[in-house]
Amino acid sequence: MIMRINAFLYRFLLVLLLMAGLMQAMPAEARRKKMPAATLAPRLQAYYDKLDACRPSKALRHAPLIGISTASRSGSLTTPGYCGISIIKAGGIPVPLAATDDPALIEAVVSRLDGLLMTGGEDVAPSYYGHEPHSQLGEVNDRRDDFELALFHKALERGIPIFGVCRGMQLINVAMGGTLVQDIPSEKPSDIRHRPGNLSVCAHDIDLEPDSRSARVLGVKHAEVNSSHHQCVLDVAPGLKVTAWSPDGIPEMLEGYPDLRIMATQYHPEVMVAEKDDPTMLRYFRFFVEECRK
Ligand code: MN
Repeated sequence: MIMRINAFLYRFLLVLLLMAGLMQAMPAEARRKKMPAATLAPRLQAYYDKLDACRPSKALRHAPLIGISTASRSGSLTTPGYCGISIIKAGGIPVPLAATDDPALIEAVVSRLDGLLMTGGEDVAPSYYGHEPHSQLGEVNDRRDDFELALFHKALERGIPIFGVCRGMQLINVAMGGTLVQDIPSEKPSDIRHRPGNLSVCAHDIDLEPDSRSARVLGVKHAEVNSSHHQCVLDVAPGLKVTAWSPDGIPEMLEGYPDLRIMATQYHPEVMVAEKDDPTMLRYFRFFVEECRK
């Protein structure tokens, strides 16, 4: 009796495998679900026709999936949006990530990503680097801190590239044991305004360390950048180094190369790429996407 059941199960499995094989061999068109018959408005029909005529290229089908943290509470969602545009322009697929405090879910999410991009937003809670809050500390977002620190921790463990923008650079430094200046105007006053209120214009210059990967990636030793921050890196975490400085001595880029595939900017290259196709900053995102492809 058991033998007979086993034989039946065996045949059943064989048929299943055969069907799966046939499904694979069948052209995608034959498997595609048909819409129920309906008379569609000409504009909608024309749009569907256009969609059906499109097939992703091989490069696009193998494009890396890059997670983008989007938990900002202050509404400054242009940063994740522009990051998504920049990743698309560089040949990757952006995946906006909703915040969760479930570590198992975060691990599952990171296991499907090829890269992680930490975006701009609120100040990182100073307790995460063992400092008391400064009077000029801005808005903090504990839920976002926890989520992004977990993302970073899991992504580092997996060895996927981790890039950061603005708060993202600060969070990466804190996540690895570094500290932050909580308010530049009161703690490191200078003539340069690092938060002039407009990301579409140049705020200050940066000088890049000539021997750094950052300088090689951008292909320049000097650049004009935008700026929108009142905090910055203070003590650099072990394993990271500052690779670009503003004229008043504020760290404007970080990297972990060659040992760690980590790179970050205090400025906003995503705005320069999304708004102006800035060729220097497009090289930055292309490098990131290529790293995520490996
Ligand atoms: Mn700046």
